[in-house]
This record gives sequence, structure tokens and C-alpha cells, in this order.
Amino acid sequence: MIVAVASGKGGTGKTTVAASLATVWDGPVCAVDLDVEEPNLHLFLQPNLTGRETAYMTVPQVDEAKCTYCGACSELCQFKAISVINRLVLTFPEMCHGCGGCMAICPEKAITAGQRELGEISWGQAAGAGFLAGTLRIGEAMSPPLMRQVKARLNQQLAADGGDAIIDAPPGVSCPAVNAVLDSDAVLLVTEPTPFGVYDFKLAWEAFTPLNKPMGAVINRAGVGNDAIYRFCREQKLPILAEIPYDRAIAEAYARGRVIADVSAGLKQTFISLRDQVRDLASPGRAQEAVHA
Ligand code: SF4
Ligand code: SF4
Repeated sequence: MIVAVASGKGGTGKTTVAASLATVWDGPVCAVDLDVEEPNLHLFLQPNLTGRETAYMTVPQVDEAKCTYCGACSELCQFKAISVINRLVLTFPEMCHGCGGCMAICPEKAITAGQRELGEISWGQAAGAGFLAGTLRIGEAMSPPLMRQVKARLNQQLAADGGDAIIDAPPGVSCPAVNAVLDSDAVLLVTEPTPFGVYDFKLAWEAFTPLNKPMGAVINRAGVGNDAIYRFCREQKLPILAEIPYDRAIAEAYARGRVIADVSAGLKQTFISLRDQVRDLASPGRAQEAVHA
């Protein structure tokens, strides 16, 4: 099972929820940081890293000795990442999406596969869980290619060893956030009951609903703001799976990079209950079996 922990905006406590969930998971689990532009799951889980590798994507490399300057590659590229001007072929690797179209279409086979560095993938163990993370290279504009490589490694790992995964998704509703939740079996939307929190939560709900994933809400800093988020969840029949109180001890633990499930027995129980509910959400049959047992 893959659980994606997402949010409509940054700063809602998404990462701290993902970290706590990973520490109370009662079976093999991998905590995955797909917030590759600003990964910080490691700050809470303090993983012991056992490996890392540089990730690359394929970009075109033109052999001008073979090129006839026909312009076919330039006409094909929707991203203006390759241009033919008179007897000059210019490539713009930072704009290339790595589709390979120009390489396939070149009649002279003048384009071969070069590489652009995307960032780094690291892995290891953390608090009894596996750990996997992507870190985007500074200056790299596109995060989905690196995210896809992190997900490919995760899928290999799950196929070989089994177990579950908890994904810390990028905040927001843009392409990277959608990419992060695409393969999940359930999505947890973390929010806070403030006007900004509710506004961005609705955007996230609208963006992810067409994906037809089971979704549940986690209300962080419960007690601030107003009841708009509760009304919205009721109207949309979106279950609220956990409420994390607005509490000084939690804020201090967060500031020190501690897993908040360890703050108190009550909070640990909140995350254990969240774990059980998200499992039922992802496999509704399991909940029914429990009822009829
Ligand atoms: S398609 Fe090939 S031959 Fe034509 S301009 Fe591009 S690189 Fe040159
Ligand atoms: S690989 Fe695709 S995106 Fe990149 S330059 Fe070629 S056609 Fe454009």
C-alpha cells in the first residue's frame, strides 16, 4: 500500500504527519521524501543513509558533422529545447523534457543521448522504517523527472521486498504534487483550520478528486481559526481521520526536529488510529471484514 501525505500549501505540518505515521507503522514501511525541491523528512526521521546516487535525464546531443539542418527536430520539439538557425543547431538542455522525440525523428541519426544532472537519490534506514529521498539539483527547474526516478526505485524495492510506503508529497496542486500522489492507494490531505488553510485545502481537494483516490483529511493545529474546514469536509463527505491539537509541546518538538508522535501517549494513539483508518480507507474490504469478524 502506498499512502501519499499531501497538502494544498506549505507549512501545514504535512511532513511531520508523514514522519509520525512512518514511526507508528506496524509492518515493513518505507518513508519516501518526494518533496524534492525542499526535502526535509530527514530532519525528523534522522535516517542512517546507506547509499546515494546522482540522477540524470536524457537530453539531445547533436553531431553537427551528420546534421543536414533539415529542421525536423526543431519543428517537433514542443518545448523549444532544440532550434535550427541557418547552419547552426542549438540545444537548451534546461528546457528539455527528455521525451526523445528529436532523437527518433532525426533522419540522419545525428542526435544521440546526452545527460543532464537532475539531483541526487539517497536511501537508508530511519526509526525502524526504510528511507528514500530525492534532492533536486540547485538550479534545476523541473522536479517530475527526478520524482519519477525516485518512484521507480521505490517500486523496485516494493516489488522485491514487499511492505508499504508513506510518501511526503510536495505541497500545492501543481504538476509535482499530482505526480507524487498518482501511484498512491490513499491520499491524506493535511491542513490547518485557518482561512488560508481552508482555501488551499479546497484547491487540493479539487485537484486530486479527479484521480479517484480514497482521500481523508488531517486537521493540524486544531483549535485555531474557525469551523469552515469541518463544514467543507462534512459537505464533501470527506472523512477527518485525525486532529492534532494546537499545542506548545508539539510546536517545541517540531522546532527541535522531533517526531511529534513521540510527544505524548495521546498523540501516539492519534497516529496509531490514523494508521488504522488510512489502511481501511485504502482497502475498504478490510474494514468490512473487521466489522463482520
Ligand atoms: S533533425 Fe537531425 S538532421 Fe535535421 S536539423 Fe535536427 S539534428 Fe540536424
Ligand atoms: S528530447 Fe523532447 S523535449 Fe528534449 S529537445 Fe528533444 S524533442 Fe525537445
